[in-house]
Amino acid sequence: MEKRRILLIGTGGTIASEMGDSGLEPELTSRQLLRYVPDISGICKVDCVQLFSLDSTNIRPEHWLRIAKTIQECYGKYDGFVVSHGTDTMAYTAAGLSYLIQNSMKPIVLTGAQKPIGYDTTDSKQNLRDAFTVASSDMFGVMLVFNGKIIIGTRARKTHSKSFEAFSSINYPIVGMVQDGRIIQYIRPERSAPVRFYEALDPKVALLKLVPGIDCKVSEYLLEQSSALIIESFGVGGLPVYETGSFYEPIKRGLAAGKTVVLTTQVENEGSDLSVYHVGNSIKQNLPILEAYDMITEAVVAKLMWILSITTERAKVAELFYTPVACDILYAFS
Ligand code: ASP
Repeated sequence: MEKRRILLIGTGGTIASEMGDSGLEPELTSRQLLRYVPDISGICKVDCVQLFSLDSTNIRPEHWLRIAKTIQECYGKYDGFVVSHGTDTMAYTAAGLSYLIQNSMKPIVLTGAQKPIGYDTTDSKQNLRDAFTVASSDMFGVMLVFNGKIIIGTRARKTHSKSFEAFSSINYPIVGMVQDGRIIQYIRPERSAPVRFYEALDPKVALLKLVPGIDCKVSEYLLEQSSALIIESFGVGGLPVYETGSFYEPIKRGLAAGKTVVLTTQVENEGSDLSVYHVGNSIKQNLPILEAYDMITEAVVAKLMWILSITTERAKVAELFYTPVACDILYAFS
């Protein structure tokens, strides 16, 4: 059988880093990365493109747009795509690409590494091999492949800052594993072609993590500066009411000014349920806020950027927010 054609898109990250005067910096191009894993030519035929060389700390939504645009322009020419990327914000980019490229019947695989490819001990080579194995398979959609795990793009989170087991799939099972070059697929998401590309994002999305005793006025400032505010509250969700003030008034003013407010939880697993406690239910019953349920914060951030580039009309925003894209939300309908 003819080998599949894969485009490797380089963006930087530790995988491509070398030691500089003040720490690791991305230096290697995608073509140079590939030279470290010559056996990939046994899996597929690869072309390379280098979009930028950034520590992913510096990657912004405009870079997600450039990656998506490159994939769109080359979509007809390749069977799959591998994006090599820094691990720190890879989960956000995976979520961003999941909204910018919907219903892809071809695999779009993000990978990277915790140790540079030139180090004696590195996860770079295995992650690249696994990513190309998945990109050359019949799997489809945006996925993150790391340390053998295949994670849906809207469900990935960096959960370890140093170990090779860097990513977890949150509130959704991993879709498969790559073991010794073979894919073991546990879940087959439904096919829903044709592919649809989007070309805009509204990056003005802010995130506020509550701490006990927080000054409620910070929400006022963030709402003034943004189109949408996500509040990571405690437990299944709720907003504090202190004698010194509450979030109710600033949120009400923000909503009246056309802003979007989403409540979620800072607890990693199982999501929000505002209906359980008075502190959550009272706000949900009285104000037109949205609730993340099992959607992870990385996905909420990217989904709002996508939605708000299409509409700011409250009912339409809510409808799009609660419409599942790439398995990003399940609980709201259970
Ligand atoms: N700081 C690096 C980055 O995100 C970390 C990594 O790639 O593992 O670009």
